[in-house]
Amino acid sequence: AARLCSGAGGEAEAADGDGAMLRHLARKLRASGPITVAEYMREALTNPGQGYYTRRGGVGESGDFITSPEISQVFGELIGIWYISEWMAMGKPNTFQLVELGPGRGTLTDDILRVFNQLASVLSKCDVSVHLVEVSPKLSEIQASMLTGGKAQPNPEDKSAYMKGVSKTGIPIFWYRDIQDVPPGYSFYLAHEFFDALPIHKFQRTEKGWREVLVDIDPEAPDQLRFVLSPSRTPATQNFIQPEETRDHVEVCPEAGVIVQRLASRIEKDGGAALVADYGHDGTKTDTFRGFRNHKLHDVLSAPGTADLTADVDFSYLRKMAQGRTATLGPIKQREFLKNMGIDLRLQVLLQNSGDTATREQLLHSYDMLMNPEKMGDCFNFFALLPHHRLVHPDKKDKPESKSPLPPVAGFNELLLK
Ligand code: SAH
Repeated sequence: AARLCSGAGGEAEAADGDGAMLRHLARKLRASGPITVAEYMREALTNPGQGYYTRRGGVGESGDFITSPEISQVFGELIGIWYISEWMAMGKPNTFQLVELGPGRGTLTDDILRVFNQLASVLSKCDVSVHLVEVSPKLSEIQASMLTGGKAQPNPEDKSAYMKGVSKTGIPIFWYRDIQDVPPGYSFYLAHEFFDALPIHKFQRTEKGWREVLVDIDPEAPDQLRFVLSPSRTPATQNFIQPEETRDHVEVCPEAGVIVQRLASRIEKDGGAALVADYGHDGTKTDTFRGFRNHKLHDVLSAPGTADLTADVDFSYLRKMAQGRTATLGPIKQREFLKNMGIDLRLQVLLQNSGDTATREQLLHSYDMLMNPEKMGDCFNFFALLPHHRLVHPDKKDKPESKSPLPPVAGFNELLLK
């Protein structure tokens, strides 16, 4: 089952081994009072010692949730084609960096690099390098073994990239903890199920005005956590709620905003594009914070550090954060994006080439997972940041006749500039 839907999963697993994360949080809460949901999420997911991603990793069939690249190789292949198509539309620059945020098991980049290798004659003379932004030591090891066949080394002499290696197809790969450490340069960015893992603040409208939802110890059960409301406004209620807000419950992910601003300024300065794919909404949903363990929904406050915590991405917020620096396209539903990218044709080719019934059934099953509106087809979205000149010709009033039509952006059929 994907993260969105609850369903049958692996064996039930022992709760939080030794409860170390809960004890750590309880000490903190006793010492300094309730914490924001964002701080709780950051601790539970990426605390360097006990965080969920740091220790468990979670992605994949044997983990807690499964993602599109883990379901079908076709997903990554079509994304690889998207980058090549944008590279061509932007005049085939002679070098680019592929930068992936939160690469999980490395499957998506592996599928993209396979496409780059198959289309080597198209990409010939282009110098490609891969840059992975990953905080989890455990997942970076899994990525290294997937992408380099185990030939990656720690990189202590370089303060920014903590590990480096060479892909099975000969492309250099570097690992970083932060997008700021990735060297500047013409880059294609990719964030698949990354933004939903970043910490959110939660707010509630009350008779006395906006209050922030906080996490505290339950006084009646000291080994349990509960939600409380801030007694007054907090810095976050003042900074993150828009005056025109009409909802009563709001989630905001400032870290996602900061990262999108960084991506947008890098694209504006050095060129390239960013493709973001995630479940989300356009500023309409209210309460989407949830946990997953063993492919089942899990109470977000129970056994922190043992479950994946996630919230829908607010694409309207990302669009606002990019504004001015880049144009944006989408969000567009996954099934529409993949259809525009030619998934049906790719499926037909794979079905024709596969000899056995089991493989054909598997292909049809994974297609259904990705495309069915009841499964991942409708709730996952694609969203892109592109330089303004990619969608609208720079104003050349003196020579309007020199303007040739701009090639459409693959995948997005509505080319509405927002
Ligand atoms: N893109 C992958 C994995 C999604 S899970 C897929 O679709 O299969 C989220 C990924 O983001 C994991 O690799 C996790 O370790 C990483 N991650 C979470 N928070 C992060 C942060 N603050 N900085 C960098 N990586 C982060």
